[in-house]
Amino acid sequence: MRTAISARRRSLAAGFALLGKALAAYPLLPMTPAVTIDPTQLRDHSQKALAGGQLTAAEALQLYRGLDQPSLGLLANDVRLRLNPADADGKVRVTYIVDRNLNPTNVCITDCGFCAFYRSPGDADAYILSREVIYQKVDDLLSKGGIQLLLQGGHHPRLKTDWYAELFTDLKQRYPQVWIHGMSPPEITHLSKLEKRPVRDILVALKAAGLDSIPGGGAEILVERVRKVIAPKKATSEEWLEVMRQWARLGGKGTATMMFGHVESDAERIEHMTRIRDLQAETGGVFTAFIPWTFQPDNTPKGKVFLVERGGAKATVAEYLRTLSMARLYLQNVPHIQSSFVTQGMKTCQVGLSMGADDFGSAMLEENVVSSAGCTHPTSIPEIERHIKDAGFVPQRRNMMYQPVETPATDRFGNAANQKKAIVSKVEA
Ligand code: SF4
Repeated sequence: MRTAISARRRSLAAGFALLGKALAAYPLLPMTPAVTIDPTQLRDHSQKALAGGQLTAAEALQLYRGLDQPSLGLLANDVRLRLNPADADGKVRVTYIVDRNLNPTNVCITDCGFCAFYRSPGDADAYILSREVIYQKVDDLLSKGGIQLLLQGGHHPRLKTDWYAELFTDLKQRYPQVWIHGMSPPEITHLSKLEKRPVRDILVALKAAGLDSIPGGGAEILVERVRKVIAPKKATSEEWLEVMRQWARLGGKGTATMMFGHVESDAERIEHMTRIRDLQAETGGVFTAFIPWTFQPDNTPKGKVFLVERGGAKATVAEYLRTLSMARLYLQNVPHIQSSFVTQGMKTCQVGLSMGADDFGSAMLEENVVSSAGCTHPTSIPEIERHIKDAGFVPQRRNMMYQPVETPATDRFGNAANQKKAIVSKVEA
C-alpha cells in the first residue's frame, strides 16, 4: 500500500511539474460557454491556489472554465494533501461515518420544486414517525456500529420547537451515546416563522435538549435568483446563513452543502461558495465540511422544467468532479470536502477522492430524500471500505467532528448476512 501511494504521489508530483512548466502550451478544453483564457493567468491562479492563496471569484471562474478536468483535479488533490496530509508512515486516510437518516415527518408546506420526498398535509402517504418506530431505527443503528442520526424532515405546519426538543430529550435519555446531527437551517427558519420566535431562542432550546450539530441541508444555491426559481417558499440565503451564524455563536458546528446542476450558472456556484467561505471566516470555522452534490430530477414536481436551460440533461460525472475540485481550491478554510456516493454512485465517488475530496461521506443505513428522486446507490460498509482501499487510501471511520473512531472488532456489517444488504431503503411510514 505504501509503495502504491508513494508511486501515486510521485505521479502527482510529476503531473504538477508538467503543469507548471507547460501550462502555456496546455491543451485547454473549453467549457460552457466556450471561452479562451490566457494560459498565463491560469498558471498564476493555479500557483496561487497551490500556495494556499484565497482565489477571487473571477480567478476561480477562470480556472473552472479554463482548465481541463485532469489539471483541475491534480491541483485540488495537492491542496487536499496539504490540508489533510498523509500519516507519518505515508498512508493517506479517507474518512467516512456510519449513521442513518431519520426523517421524523415527510409533511411539508414549503413545496420545493426539486423535492420528491415531501407530502402535503392530508396526503395518504404523509407520516409522522412514532417513538416506537424511531427507537427501532436507533436500535438498528447501534446494532450495526453506527454513532449518529442525521435527523431532517419536512416543514410540518403543526410540529413546533417543543415537539423536537421533546424528541431530542427522549433520544438522549435512551441513547446518550448517539450524536444528533439534525435540523437543517431551513427547518429552524420554518420554526422561527411558525412560532414568531427568534432563531437564537430555538437553537438554544434544541441545543439544551440534545442537538449536537446542524447539517447543511437546504442550502441548494445561496443566491436569491436561483432560490426564487427552485424553492421560493424556502429560507432565503441570508436566513440560511443567519442560522449557521447564530449556531456558531452558541459554540456549535455544522456542515455546508451545495445542490447544483439545475438553473444556476457557473458564476452562481462560485457565489454560493463565496458565501460559505465568508461565513466560515467570520465564525472562525463553523463548517467542518463542504458537500456538493448534483440535482436529482426524477419524480420531482419541476425537475424537467429546471433542466430546460441545460438542454434537459442532468449534470455529468465530469461536471460533478470539476465542481468538487473547484470547491477544494476555493474553500481552503473549510477543512474537509465530501465525495458523495449517495448521489453520484460509488465509482464516481471513488474518483473524487483523487480530485479534492478526503471524505466518503456517511454510510447511511437509510436514505429517503434522494432515493425518492430516483437516485439509489445501495452499498454496504465493506463495499465502502473496498472502494476507498482500491483508490489507494486507508479507510478511517470518524465522528461528525472528524475525530477517528475505532471500527468495532465485531462489526456486524462485516458478516456475510449484511454484506449484500442494501442500505438505501424506502421510507417506512
Ligand atoms: S426540500 Fe425540504 S423544505 Fe423543500 S419541499 Fe422537500 S422537505 Fe420540504
